[in-house]
Amino acid sequence: MKRIINEMKLRLPAISVNEAVARSVVSVFSAELNPTTAELGDLRCAVSEAVTNCIVHAYKDLPEGEVGYIYISVRLYDTREISVEISDNGCGIEDVERARMPSYTTGESGERCGMGFLVMESFTDFLSVKSRVGRGTTVLMRKILGP
Ligand code: ATP
Ligand code: MG
Repeated sequence: MKRIINEMKLRLPAISVNEAVARSVVSVFSAELNPTTAELGDLRCAVSEAVTNCIVHAYKDLPEGEVGYIYISVRLYDTREISVEISDNGCGIEDVERARMPSYTTGESGERCGMGFLVMESFTDFLSVKSRVGRGTTVLMRKILGP
């Protein structure tokens, strides 16, 4: 049985400065397991994509002046595993399977390329995406560090 050695929860407003905040906090917190620079880089990228999605997509229909929140929960295990759960109470995703396909995007600005989920999947060891329209989205990622 794997055992939790440390855990944290964080709630941040879904505003763009918090992409860097989330990524930094998660990497500082994970430092206890002595990840390699490459492992840390992967984790930071994956967190950044998940948080960016909350900022860009989840709350896009919120009335002007209202702010949604991003909920981040991190756990470190004695098996050198890091789990990061990132959720929002935003618009949700109608078809998660389609949303996870490379190049699928609903972004209209031309800035988005539909690669976020692919990055999260490639840079971690496990990715699950659960979503309900009108309720929100929860992304769970697990990264297993080398010995
Ligand atoms: P990129 O990440 O490459 O900038 P993208 O954000 O469109 O582009 P993905 O991160 O792969 O690509 O997400 C695919 C699609 O899934 C998004 O375009 C959006 O429609 C939907 N989506 C992802 N995360 C959320 C979320 N938290 N809430 C609502 N919709 C989301
Ligand atoms: Mg994205």
